[in-house]
Order: sequence, then structure tokens, then C-alpha cells
Amino acid sequence: MSDSNLTFRRYEDGDHEHVSWDEDVVSSGESYICPTYIQRTPPCQNACPSGHDIRGWLSIVRGLDKPQGDKPWEEYAFERMTMSNPFPAIMGRVCPAPCQDACNRGDVDEYVGINSIEQYVGDWAQKNDVAFTKPESESGKKIAIIGGGPSGLSAALFLRRMGHQSTIFESYSDLGGQMRFGIPGYRIPRDVLDKEIKRILDVGGIEVKLNTRVGSDVSVEDLEKDYDAIFWGVGTVFGKPLRVDGGEAPNCVDGMTFLKAFNGGNLKYLSGRILVVGGGDTAMDVAAVAKRIGDVADINASERPEAVMGDSGSQGDDQAAKRTNADCWLVYRRPIDKAPCTKHELEACIAEGVEIHDSLAPLEVMLDDDGRARALKVQPVDWSTGKMVDNGEPFEIECTMIVAATGQTGDFDGIDGIGNDWNQIDAEKNMQVKGKPGHFVGGDAVNPHLLTTAIGHASIAVEGIDQYLRGEEVADRPKVDAHHFELLKELDLKGLSPEEYTQGETWGSDSSNFAVHNFDDRASAEVVKSSELFKGHFEYEPINNRAEVEINSETVLANMKERFTGLEEELAIKEAGRCMSCGMCFECDNCVIYCPQDAVIRVKKDKKAMGRYVETDYALCVGCHICKEVCPTGYIEMGLGFA
Ligand SMILES: Cc1cc2nc3c(=O)[nH]c(=O)nc-3n(C[C@H](O)[C@H](O)[C@H](O)COP(=O)(O)OP(=O)(O)OC[C@H]3O[C@@H](n4cnc5c(N)ncnc54)[C@H](O)[C@@H]3O)c2cc1C
Ligand code: SF4
Ligand code: SF4
Repeated sequence: MSDSNLTFRRYEDGDHEHVSWDEDVVSSGESYICPTYIQRTPPCQNACPSGHDIRGWLSIVRGLDKPQGDKPWEEYAFERMTMSNPFPAIMGRVCPAPCQDACNRGDVDEYVGINSIEQYVGDWAQKNDVAFTKPESESGKKIAIIGGGPSGLSAALFLRRMGHQSTIFESYSDLGGQMRFGIPGYRIPRDVLDKEIKRILDVGGIEVKLNTRVGSDVSVEDLEKDYDAIFWGVGTVFGKPLRVDGGEAPNCVDGMTFLKAFNGGNLKYLSGRILVVGGGDTAMDVAAVAKRIGDVADINASERPEAVMGDSGSQGDDQAAKRTNADCWLVYRRPIDKAPCTKHELEACIAEGVEIHDSLAPLEVMLDDDGRARALKVQPVDWSTGKMVDNGEPFEIECTMIVAATGQTGDFDGIDGIGNDWNQIDAEKNMQVKGKPGHFVGGDAVNPHLLTTAIGHASIAVEGIDQYLRGEEVADRPKVDAHHFELLKELDLKGLSPEEYTQGETWGSDSSNFAVHNFDDRASAEVVKSSELFKGHFEYEPINNRAEVEINSETVLANMKERFTGLEEELAIKEAGRCMSCGMCFECDNCVIYCPQDAVIRVKKDKKAMGRYVETDYALCVGCHICKEVCPTGYIEMGLGFA
């Protein structure tokens, strides 16, 4: 890593136009622009689909925002995290962290390791049995939640916080959705998953009906009669089959079926060469599982992998004991560097011995005399013009099994008027089902994406459900739709709430106690860009990465170990200290030190709270804007005053 991004300069070459301070800044010895303290949303938060208050919990981890009483900082950070997402130990492990890609620190050295800190806090909360608080009052309303995946479970918790009860209807035998039936256990350990689900159910007021499929065991009409609103968290549970001739062969299965058989404990080994078709995260999981469960050479028909898919039968442990390294090829239509999968997962697959064969378009599944797939016929293609064009002669790749991981679709059998032509659900911006008042939706059912997206949808939908239950119009969403630090809440927590406003019309409120002076919360409208920060304040400091267990083609067989080892406390704190606190004061004192007028003063200790650390004496301020220039976080804007 280089430190070439480091800049200690605020201005670019050529930025030397004379500014007339007389006219623009100081007029007759009076300033007409003075500093205002502006809270904006940092890009990490804007990029997190569940809208985590990342800067807020990082400031807790680094010790800036301290808990009240003897509450451990980890618990305080956990509370802040789980306002937006109740699965920190899972997110910390498998979220591909779009927040990190957006982090402004990347313009100094490298992004903040948000994900690993989330895992640290999530794991701490599990070890210390931290529970969610129960609602203070009951609304008397009950909501039907269809689907017990991350969106449904999060909706249940968020509804509880508003005093609403719910029933989760789940067609499978357990809760968790893709966290249990799709993503393998070496990426989400099942004890971690079970604890994060149990913590939600322990809040009470959440009834669970497993093995109950809406559309066959229960009708939507009955739910409409018995419940006050409905949340659809049904995901996209079916994998799409390979749509070429021969794709219906018995040993040609889809990725969802393959992973469900593995995660359910039925699929224990493969036999012969397996071809995985696709380039997304499901394809990577199938290929990585294939390398782990390995190959058994001589098996009979009832032990074949396809014979144990679809909840029927199970392979024996005695055969599994004989397995050797699997021969697994990934076949992808485009160049592999254009694959939509998480890059880290692709690199891991390659290290584990998965052979990558890209720019090959499947043409036909070649069948043997028994109607089983014996090869995949592919067309080499070229994408250099941006379009797919044939590039050579088609050829056959021999195999004993093909797994199509080319997309998913929803299951709307017996459910009328909800699914669209693509077996998904159309949603308004506020996650109300289009044209269906009282029905809300979230997660993959709207748009297959990430766990954090499904959880973010649930949070928005629950706000809509609450408004709907109150008979209010379901409101439009703000431009920057994330969970934000709220200064008034922080002041309340610290016993520093402003006094009630009883004065009637008032002019000149600078010495009154009913207002928070020169603070403006623009978090719902503005994201603070890297260019608005004084990055020169920050020294080059390498990221504190989690240790990763190296798994290669020699060690992958039967290896179900987690790849990441979580951070220790000391490193988690150190890493949080790399956050530049974009858009919020982090108490560096630059403005206090550099103000030539001594007009910037620290708020007295007994009045101080996170976000209210400095104030300006406007009688002294001459509007020179030095404080704005030296503020590393982009928290100060020149405004306010007489024009
Ligand atoms: C193989 C794979 C790997 C992935 N890896 C990652 C990853 O590493 N990181 C990441 O962030 N995301 C990952 N994802 C995406 C993530 O899992 C999904 O975005 C997320 O699970 C969607 O949550 P959901 O609640 O909308 O749906 P789901 O998790 O699919 O849950 C839907 C639930 O609804 C139930 N259901 C459906 N229909 C009915 C009905 N009619 N009646 C009752 N119950 C019903 C289903 O049984 C299921 O339990 C992966 C997905 C897959 C498939
Ligand atoms: S859920 Fe994902 S995107 Fe959001 S803060 Fe965690 S790692 Fe970042
Ligand atoms: S430096 Fe901190 S506040 Fe800024 S984008 Fe990165 S994690 Fe977010």
C-alpha cells in the first residue's frame, strides 16, 4: 500500500484568486459570516443498505461517546448498531461491506475496517448474553410476517420496539432463510445464527409458526382477516434452472437446491467432475462447498448427489469417509473479472482449487443413454466490443453433475395478486406493496441483494406499517435514508435537554436555553464528501485487518473452519480510531487552537455532549473562516450572521 493519497494541502495549484475580505467577510469591523456546526451523513452510512449509524458506533468504540453509568462500551455500541440491524455478528462475518467501499478514509490510506469492528461488538454481545429491551407499552396490533429470513426477523423486532406483536409464518422447518439454508455454516456458524435469532424472539410478542407455508397451509385472505397488516419477507427461494436443451436432466440441479441439501446435512460428497455455471455469490458458495465435501469415486445410483436433493434421502457417513479432492470447474459467460460475486469469495475459491473457465456461453447439456448429463456444450465468446460475439468453435466439457447458479426466483404458488411477472413483488419507495394498502414488503422478494439490504427494507417497511396502523398516510422517505445520530436524544441521555419553549415570539436567542445554538442537522439531506474534509490532519495509518485462516487446495477437503478470526478489543479500538468522523465533531481542538480571535471555545464540561463540544463567541468572531479550513471532519460551515 502506498501513502500517495495523503494530502496536507487544502487548496490545489492555481487556487490563488484574491478574496476581498473587506467586502466578503468583514464589514465595518463586524463579521457577517460566522461558523455554524453542520451535521451531515458520512458516505459509509449512506452506502450501508441498513443505514447503520456507523460513525456513531465507531465514536463509541474509540471512547469519544461514553456510556452512562457502568455500562460497558461494547454494550453501548451494540445498542447503537442494533437500532438499524439486529445481526451484528453475522454482518461482521459475511456482509461484503459496501460501507467500506464508500469510506472517505480510502482517500487518505485505506478504508476503515467497519465490518471487523461490527463482528467484534456482535461477538462480545453474544459472549455476554446482551438482550434486547422489551417494549414499554403494547399497541394491541398484530402483524402477519410471511417468511422467517433476515427481513422477516428484523421486521418482527422493529415492530416490537413500537409495541406491535407479530406472527412469523415460515414454510421451512427453521428460521433464518438464506442465512441457514443458503449460506454455508463455515461462513455463518450456526451457533452464532441461533443466538442472534433467539435474542430477537426473547423480546416476546413474536409467535412463530414453522412448516407453515402461506398460500397452501394458510391463505392470504385469512391473514388479511386476522391481522392488522402483512409484511412479505418471502425472498426468492427457488434457483433458476439452466435454460438450454437438456437442462432438465436429473443431475443438472440449481444452486439453491444444492446448498439446501448441503446445509440440511443430506449432501455429503460428490462424484466425478462438477460444473458450476454462474458468477455470483451463490456460484462461489456452491463451488467452495464442492471443494469441501470432496469426491467419492464408486457410488451406486441411490448415493448420487442428485438423489439426496429436494429433502429426500441422505448420503452415508461411511462413504463420506472415503472422499478425496473434488474436481470442480466454474463456467462463466463473461470474463471472470466482470463477475458480480464478492471478489474475496472468488479469490478464496481460486486458492482452494476451483478451476475458472470464463467467456464460455452454455449451449446444450449433452445427455447419455440414461438421460443424464454427461457434458456441457459451450460456445467460447468474446466481450471486447461490449457485446457477446462467438469466438471459436463450440466444444464439450465432460462432467457428472451441473449446478446452475444463474439467479433466483420467488415462490407464489397459490398466492394471487402479489407477485409480478418475474415472481418478485413491486414495492413503492416506502416498501408498501404497489396498489395494496396494508401490505408491506422487504428483502430479496423486491430485489435479490444482500442481508443488510433485506434488513434495511424491513426497517423502512415497519415505519410504514406503524404509520398505516395509526391511520396516517405512509410518508415519503428522506433523500438520505439512514439512521442518524440525534443530538437532542444524546442531550436527553446526558440530562442536558434544552428547556421547553414557552417564550412566544423571540428575537436573538443566543443566550437562551430553549435552543441548541449554531447547530444544524442536515443528515437527512446531505452526504459529506471527502473533498469537504481537511484530510491533511490525518496521518498515514495502516488498517488493522482481521487474521484470515489460509485455506488452499491441499487443506480445503472437509475443512469447515471459519476463514476470519475476529479482532481483539485493543485492535478494534485502534481501528475505530482511524475513522475521520466525517460530518461530525470529533473533538480534535483544531478550531479552538487556530482561531486568531479566541472566538471558538470549548463547551463547559457539565454542558458538553457528543456533537456539542465547541461554540463560538459571535462578539469576537471576525468571520475569517480559519476554523472551517482546519476542521478535519467538514463539520464547520460559514454562515449565520448579518448580511
Ligand atoms: C447462496 C447465497 C449466498 C449468499 N451470500 C451472501 C453473503 O455472503 N452476504 C450477504 O449479505 N448476502 C448474501 N446472500 C443474500 C442474502 O442471503 C439474501 O439477500 C437475504 O437472505 C434475503 O433475505 P429475505 O428475508 O428477503 O429472504 P430469505 O432469506 O430468502 O428468507 C425468506 C424466507 O421466507 C420463507 N418463505 C418463502 N415463501 C413463503 C411462504 N409462502 N410462506 C411462508 N414462508 C415462506 C422462506 O422459506 C425463507 O425462509 C446470499 C444468498 C444466497 C442464496
Ligand atoms: S451491514 Fe454491511 S454495509 Fe452496513 S455497516 Fe455492516 S458491513 Fe457495512
Ligand atoms: S472515515 Fe469514518 S465516518 Fe468517514 S466514511 Fe469512513 S467510517 Fe465513515
